Amino acid sequence: MPDRRPARLTAGRLTVALAAAVLLALALYASTFVISYEDFFRAEDPLVRNDVARLAPARVERVDTVREVDQLRAVLREARQRGLKVSISGSRHSQGGHTYTRGGVVLNMRGFNRVRAVDPVALTITVESGTTWDEVQRAIAPRGLALKVMQSSNIFTVGGTLSANAHGRDLDVTQAVEVVESFRLLLANGNVVQVSRDENPELFSLVIGGYGLYGVILDVTLRVTRDELYEQRAVSMDYREFPGYFARNIKPDSDVVLMLARPSIDPNPDSFLREVVVVTWRRAGPGGPGGRGSFDLTEEAHVWRDRFFFGLSRRFDWAKSLRWRLQKKVELGAGEARIVSRNNAMRPPLAPLEFLEYHSRRDTDIIQEYYIPVENFVPFMDRFREILVGGKMNVLSSTVRYVTPNATPALAYAPRRPAFAIIQMSNVGLSPDAQAQAEAVTRQLVDAALEHGGTYYLTYQLYPTADQLHRAYPNARRAFARKRFYDPDETFTNQFYERYGHTEPR
Ligand SMILES: Cc1cc2nc3c(=O)[nH]c(=O)nc-3n(C[C@H](O)[C@H](O)[C@H](O)COP(=O)(O)OP(=O)(O)OC[C@H]3O[C@@H](n4cnc5c(N)ncnc54)[C@H](O)[C@@H]3O)c2cc1C
Repeated sequence: MPDRRPARLTAGRLTVALAAAVLLALALYASTFVISYEDFFRAEDPLVRNDVARLAPARVERVDTVREVDQLRAVLREARQRGLKVSISGSRHSQGGHTYTRGGVVLNMRGFNRVRAVDPVALTITVESGTTWDEVQRAIAPRGLALKVMQSSNIFTVGGTLSANAHGRDLDVTQAVEVVESFRLLLANGNVVQVSRDENPELFSLVIGGYGLYGVILDVTLRVTRDELYEQRAVSMDYREFPGYFARNIKPDSDVVLMLARPSIDPNPDSFLREVVVVTWRRAGPGGPGGRGSFDLTEEAHVWRDRFFFGLSRRFDWAKSLRWRLQKKVELGAGEARIVSRNNAMRPPLAPLEFLEYHSRRDTDIIQEYYIPVENFVPFMDRFREILVGGKMNVLSSTVRYVTPNATPALAYAPRRPAFAIIQMSNVGLSPDAQAQAEAVTRQLVDAALEHGGTYYLTYQLYPTADQLHRAYPNARRAFARKRFYDPDETFTNQFYERYGHTEPR
C-alpha cells in the first residue's frame, strides 16, 4: 500500500492556508470601513487647503498659526501691503470653502485658544476664539458650569460657531447669538473694536453668522449656565405625530431642557424619514433618579465600532436598516431613563463626531440643513423625502432640532418664526457627474424649503444658486455691501464670499 500521509498532510495544510487567506482577505475588507488605506500612499501638498467636505481644494500662499494679537496684526499689515487675501479658519468643519481662498493667507486660529476668565457668579466665560467647546467644557465643568448653546459635537471653535451662528439642542436658548455678551474684533485696518449689542451693534449683527468677512474675532464673553442632571428618554413615533407631540409634551414643559429628533434612515419605504425617535433630556431632581448621576466628563468611546457600522451603511442598504435598528435600540434603551449631566449630554459618547472622519478619494459625506416653520414640518418632510428618493441620495443620517426666531444676525436663518432645523447627511461621489447630481438635488431641496416659508444653512456646500441665497436671506445684499464698507480692499475673503458676495437679488 502506498503511504498517502504526506498527500493528506499537504491537503490539510492547503485547507488551513486557504482558510487563513480567506479570513485575512475578509479582515482586510472589513478594515476598509474603518481605515483609509489611501491616506498611507497620498503625498499631501501642505498648502492645498480643504475643509471637511473636500469639495473645492485650493492652493494657498501660506497658513499662519497665530497665538497673539500682534502676530495677527502683522499678518494683516503684510497682506495689505502685498495685496494678499486673508481667510480665517477654526476647526474647518464648514463645508463650502469658508476658510480659504486660492493664493491667500490662512489664519489658523486653533493656537489662539486661551481661557481668559470664568465667572461662576455672573455665569459668564471669556475665551479666545480658537478655543474648542471641548476645551471650554474642560475649563468650566470643574466650576459646576455648562454651555447653554453648542452644536451636535464639541470639536468646533468658538469663532467658527459665532461666524455660523450655530444652534444646539437647548429648547430655551437655541442660537449662539443669544449667549454672546461681547467680543473684540480685529478689523482689516488693524484696529481692534469692542462689539456688543450696545457697542458697534451693526458689527454685532454682521459678524455673528457673517462667516469671517468683517474681521478676526479675538476674545469672546459668553453666557453659560449651571451643570445639572437630566433624565434622558426616547420615544418613537410617526413623523406626522411629531409636531403635535412637541407642542403638547415638550414645549410647555419647562423641565424638558434639550431635544433631538432622529428620522429613520432605513431605506424601507415604510420607515424612511417617516419613523422618528424623539430624545429628550428632562431635569432630574437629586432626591429622585438624579441621585445616581455623575458630573465627571465622559470621553469618546467605540469610535472604531461606530466607524465600522457607519462605513458599512455608506455602501449597503441592509446596513442602513441594521444601523437604524441598533441606533433605535440604544436610544430607546428599552424605555428606561438614563441619568446624564448637561455637560455630558453635549459631549462624546452622546454627541460624538470622531467616528465620522472619512477620507475617500472617490466620495465624501455632505451635510445640508433646512429651517422650516414648525407648522410646515409635515408637508416639507413629504417633499424632502420625495426629492431625496427621486434623486437617489445615499442618506446616512438625519436629525431635527428646534430653533426659536432671532432677527439679530444680518444673515438670520430663522428671523421671524419658530422653526424645526432639519438636517440630512448624505454620501456623494466626487466625480463631476456625481457632484452635478448632488447640486441639482440640493437646489430642489432649497426650493422646497423656500416654498414652505423656510431657509437653508449657509455653512455647507455652495450648491445653491445666488438667487436662492438672496431669496432665503433678503438682507444678504446689504450685509455684503457693509462688508465692503468695513473692509474696502476686501482683504478678508473666502470661497463663500467669492461665490455670492457680488451677486444681486433678481
Ligand atoms: C458633523 C457636523 C455637525 C454639525 N453640527 C452642527 C449643529 O449641531 N448645529 C449647527 O448649528 N451647526 C452644526 N455644524 C456646522 C458648524 O457649526 C459650522 O460649520 C461651524 O462654523 C464649524 O465651526 P469650525 O470651528 O469648524 O469653523 P470653520 O469651519 O473653521 O470656520 C467657519 C467660518 O467661521 C469663520 N471663522 C472661524 N474662526 C473665526 C474667527 N476667530 N474670527 C472670525 N471668523 C472666524 C471662518 O472664516 C469661516 O467662515 C455641523 C457641522 C458638521 C460638519
